[in-house]
Amino acid sequence: MHLLAEQTGDGLILVDARGHVLAFNTEAGRQFLISSPRMLERGAPPGCAWVRADEPSIPLELSPLERALAGEVVREERWGVRRPDGTVAVLRGSAWSYGEGAGVLLRAREERTSRLDVAGGARLLAEAGALLGMELDTEARMEPLLRLLVPTLADAGVLFLGPAGEPVRPVAALHAEPERHVLLVEMLRRFPPDGLEPRGLPSLFLTGRTERVEALTHAQQVASTRDAEHARLLLSLGLRGYLGVPLVARGRVIGALMLFRTEGARAFSDEEERLAEELARRTALSLDNARLLREAREAVRLRDEFLGIASHELKTPLTPLHLKVQLLQRQVDLLAAHGKPVNAERVSETLDVVQRQVRKLTSLVDNLLDVSRITAGRLKLELEEMDLASVAAEIVYRFAPSAMQLRCSLEMYAPVPVLGRWDRLRLEQVVTNLLSNALKYGAGQPVRLSVEAEGRTARLTVQDGGIGIAPVDLPRIFERFERAVSDRHYGGLGLGLYITRQIVEAFGGSVRASSELGRGSTFVLELPRGDIPDECLSPPGAPEVPA
Ligand code: ADP
Repeated sequence: MHLLAEQTGDGLILVDARGHVLAFNTEAGRQFLISSPRMLERGAPPGCAWVRADEPSIPLELSPLERALAGEVVREERWGVRRPDGTVAVLRGSAWSYGEGAGVLLRAREERTSRLDVAGGARLLAEAGALLGMELDTEARMEPLLRLLVPTLADAGVLFLGPAGEPVRPVAALHAEPERHVLLVEMLRRFPPDGLEPRGLPSLFLTGRTERVEALTHAQQVASTRDAEHARLLLSLGLRGYLGVPLVARGRVIGALMLFRTEGARAFSDEEERLAEELARRTALSLDNARLLREAREAVRLRDEFLGIASHELKTPLTPLHLKVQLLQRQVDLLAAHGKPVNAERVSETLDVVQRQVRKLTSLVDNLLDVSRITAGRLKLELEEMDLASVAAEIVYRFAPSAMQLRCSLEMYAPVPVLGRWDRLRLEQVVTNLLSNALKYGAGQPVRLSVEAEGRTARLTVQDGGIGIAPVDLPRIFERFERAVSDRHYGGLGLGLYITRQIVEAFGGSVRASSELGRGSTFVLELPRGDIPDECLSPPGAPEVPA
């Protein structure tokens, strides 16, 4: 009998007809905080008071025990009990008399208003704080974080991440029941959320507001699934209600914490919602900090790598420069010592080499200065009307000697002038960058440059038949310091295309590349022609079919 009373899981109190507590089990001792059988006081165990379950400040008019003592059968009611320590427990139970008025039996089950009391909530936050503060891979911390919340705060939980532009994906999931946990993981694996508007995930990614749904009907759950199998898996999780809290970092929703209660459990309370929101806030902050740290480290790594390459690149032209000047000095000294005249032709040859290296150095330093100007947002454009075809022709002319040296044919196709308002020096710089890359990476194959207009857009295309660029590298070559070749084979700072794109975007245009490894690359520049008169858009005498 005693064993039975302990095993029901319910609190049981036996009271005699005079209100003496004859016996109670451990659960009742916990519910009413009583330690030894005593006399009821005002129809409640000593130190306790019956209050309304939904409004604990209002006392109950009649104690269920007194009603049962008066002969009433009290069936499945909800009451609150204020305990000697001031806390309130909500009980659901029954009370009835036994043995023809010998006494009454009260059976009650605690319905927890909040699974966590204030101290429990503070402890949870402290533990989460310690976890989030650890220097670990951030996403690896999401699983242990869920383990703090399930089953303490929820019966199941899923943490989704989807920072700006990235698709939403689940990074951690946990169900308190092991068999259902397997099903939850399987469901998320087979039916991950759909892109940026995941079906099944509430709109909190879009609204950035907490959502609390007390009772999810089967129909609602099925409506959020993709097919019968998805529905089967979702329904097998036994979910009843959810609390969805967005993870917001610097005004942007970067993820969502979804907490679920299963059938038979009560809904989430206001305090639990506040606790989940605080947790989500701390988690978002930690994720955001970790991302910033990662980015800062990557930036430092790139900068260090760049400094290495930059020093090497600056040093490369300096060595021949130094040698040539030294040689010249020695020759001049020798000739002077013998009273002979200096050979103007040889001096001029040497000075040509010197000048080439100085030009190289100047261009490297100019690139570095441009990058710092762009980073500081100080790229100033001086717009004037000009012809893109003439600018390109001028640059092609400048490159003719290098192309000849490389035995590479340089063709230009620009049948008509293409007028627009641009900054001359910056435009020259852009064309120079594209053309010098085409020669540098062109493997001696013909390079072709064309200029044409389409309404208010000017288009310049540089095409080569050289080494090409692998598809994986294409998206990053326009980034700062990014290169797709080894610096042992090709010198360079990885800045030319970055500067090109920045200038082109400052003009309001775009530059894109298409390429096939080993087959060559094509760079297409499109620039708005700016505020020029309509009659300049198609110049008179333009051939219908370009020759
Ligand atoms: P750099 O040439 O100094 O490395 P860029 O910013 O001009 O820097 O180019 C970035 C990278 O893009 C180069 O390192 C190279 O890998 C690739 N690239 C640019 N132009 C071409 C081209 N025409 N053919 C093949 N690869 C190219």
